[in-house]
Amino acid sequence: MPTENMNDDHALVLFSGGQDSATCLAWALARYPLVETVGFAYGQRHAVELDCRGPVRAAIDAMWPGRLGPDHLIDLAMTLGGLGTTALTARTAIAMTEDGLPNTFVPGRNLLFFTCAAALAYRRGLRRIVGGMCETDYSGYPDCRDDTIKAMQLALNLGMQRRFVLETPLMWRDKAATWELAASLGGDALVELIRAETHSCYLGDRSRLHDWGYGCGTCPACDLRAGGWRRWRDAARSASISGSSSPGDTAS
Ligand code: ZN
Repeated sequence: MPTENMNDDHALVLFSGGQDSATCLAWALARYPLVETVGFAYGQRHAVELDCRGPVRAAIDAMWPGRLGPDHLIDLAMTLGGLGTTALTARTAIAMTEDGLPNTFVPGRNLLFFTCAAALAYRRGLRRIVGGMCETDYSGYPDCRDDTIKAMQLALNLGMQRRFVLETPLMWRDKAATWELAASLGGDALVELIRAETHSCYLGDRSRLHDWGYGCGTCPACDLRAGGWRRWRDAARSASISGSSSPGDTAS
């Protein structure tokens, strides 16, 4: 294989401005000396998540100074918009479809994201590509599954003649464990940043701040986020009752 102009410990994080990708950004910054971020505009029905990216990035940058490199925003709105609408890109009610997937599923989205991210990483010399995909506590999207990501890594490495490493630190963590990971990486300050500044709600609701963050409180994304928060807080509470301390005990 020809010599690669790649930095083994430089990373590109798929960063949407949501809870999972913000946790992944912190995870990467805690490990790697240079971390760049990429976001995608794909005609989301709300730009709220994208609007969260700047402030969240700036705040996380201050926690691991000198490691965060440039941000890249790739516009895929025409591409994904031209392939048809889903409940994530149009004002359609969120519902389950006949094949057991929510109609928030955007077919091929994560495959496209990884392909674009790898093309960018190729140009930037970044070996590691980090994404918040998870198949433990999720909406059932097939492009979030571990097998899909492993196959994607192989396809990208063959197709671009590189040795990218696709990393998904949340793959086997449920949403409670994702909060726990944030607490272990950045303590109460990171938990509070993720709670108050990131966005997950499919309806783009930023009018109500719950104990688990902003959101409508009823869409599938809010359900997952709120359920994970409660399980994490309950576990932290029982740990403190039984005498052991747990990171983030004072976060609520
Ligand atoms: Zn919601």
